[in-house]
Amino acid sequence: MLRGAGLRVTGPRVAVLAAVHDHPHADTDSITGAVRQDLGVVVSLQAVYDVLRALVDAGLVRRIQPMGSVARYEARILDNHHHVVCRSCGAISDVDCAVGYTPCLTAVDDAGYEIDEAEVIYWGRCPECAAAASAAAGG
Ligand SMILES: [Zn+2]
Ligand SMILES: [Zn+2]
Repeated sequence: MLRGAGLRVTGPRVAVLAAVHDHPHADTDSITGAVRQDLGVVVSLQAVYDVLRALVDAGLVRRIQPMGSVARYEARILDNHHHVVCRSCGAISDVDCAVGYTPCLTAVDDAGYEIDEAEVIYWGRCPECAAAASAAAGG
């Protein structure tokens, strides 16, 4: 993948790309931890930042940053999927955009713009937080 994107293949780049694949929507801290623990590669946080920026610029990794969250990274880049974010714990899951039918791209009023992408974030509570909340409420 690195070669295909015209990037030089280095140990840290391979390790970070693998970590992003294994941990979708992880932030830089988690990715650094995964690179160190799972892959046994010694890297600094700054090095991981730099690699992530290069991977995003090369289009190999997608960066998302929901409001109030640090930047998260994912390797699922070939579709324009959306995300649902838990307001309580910050968990993120993928939400597919219907293939071949993209109602979100058809704005009611496009104000004359040529629209080519829609980024949608759904906010709510994840199943764990919803269950914890109803348990706390005595239900
Ligand atoms: Zn949650
Ligand atoms: Zn995603």
